[in-house]
Amino acid sequence: MKAKDEIIKSLKLQQEQFGDDLYTRLKIPKFEDKRSIPSGTGEPGGLSLSQRAQQAGRTGASSFSQGSYQPQKQHAALKAHDAEGTGKAYQPGSPEYPTQEVIDSAVSLDDLESKINHCLKCPLGASRKNFVFGEGNPNARVMLIGEGPGADEDAKGRPFVGRAGQLLTDILKAINFSREEVYIANIVKCRPPGNRTPFDSEIAECRPYLQKQIELIKPDFILCLGGTAVQALLERKGTLGNFRNKVFNIHGAQMMATFHPAALLRNPNWKHDTWADVQAFRKLYDEKYPN
Ligand code: SF4
Repeated sequence: MKAKDEIIKSLKLQQEQFGDDLYTRLKIPKFEDKRSIPSGTGEPGGLSLSQRAQQAGRTGASSFSQGSYQPQKQHAALKAHDAEGTGKAYQPGSPEYPTQEVIDSAVSLDDLESKINHCLKCPLGASRKNFVFGEGNPNARVMLIGEGPGADEDAKGRPFVGRAGQLLTDILKAINFSREEVYIANIVKCRPPGNRTPFDSEIAECRPYLQKQIELIKPDFILCLGGTAVQALLERKGTLGNFRNKVFNIHGAQMMATFHPAALLRNPNWKHDTWADVQAFRKLYDEKYPN
C-alpha cells in the first residue's frame, strides 16, 4: 500500500508540473480487427502454424481505415513537454505537435520523419537525446518492431545498436536475412527514462507514427520483438507467451512475435525458444517467397 501511495503522490506531483494533458485517461481500444483470420486457438486473430498453412497467401489490404486504432482525442494545444519545462503550449499542427492530418499527408518515410522528428506529444520527448525514427529498406518485405530506444539508440539516433542490436543482426543472419533488406523500427521513438516500459499513454501518442511507417513500407511480414511491441500493435493486453507461436494478420502483413534481444542478453535461456520462433518466421517467409 505504501508503494502505491508513493506512486500516486509522484503522479500527482507530475500532473501539477506538466498539466492535465500529460495524464489524460487512456482508453485502450478493444481489439476488433475484422480482417484477422478466425482463430481455432482461443486467441482472436491468432492461428497455429498448421492452421495458418491452410491460409497461406492470404493477406488483407494495407489500410488502417478498417483497423481498430482510434486516434487519441486531439487536445486544443499541447502543454509543453520540452526539456526546459517552460510551460509553452504547442498548437496542433506545429512541429512539436504533429496531428493525424500531418501524419496522413506524408508521402514517403523521409517526408514522415521530417514531419514528426520534433514531436513532444508525450513526456518522452523532453528527455530524449535523439529521435529514433527507424531505418532499413523502405520497400522491405520484412519489418522488425521493438519496444523503444535504449541508451545506445538514444545516443546514436538509430534503432537496435549496441549489444542488443548486434544480437539482432546475428539472429537475422542466422535465418538468412541481412539488416539492409529489412526495416527496423520501434513502438515509441524516444527513449523511456531508465529503459522503463513505455506507458500506455505514450504508446498511444506514438502509435500513429509506426502505423504510418507500416502503411508506407507495406511489409508482408512483421516480427515483433518483445511483449510490449506485440501488445501495442494488436492493441491487446497479454503476456508474450499469449502471442508466440501464432500468426496474426495485421495491416496487410502476417505478424509473429518473439523475445526482445535485450531480454535474451539478460536471460540466455530464452535463446532456444527464440531460435524456434525465428525459424518459424523464416518458414512463413519462404512459403511466400520460395528460393
Ligand atoms: S515517444 Fe513518440 S509521441 Fe512521445 S515525444 Fe517521442 S515521438 Fe512524440
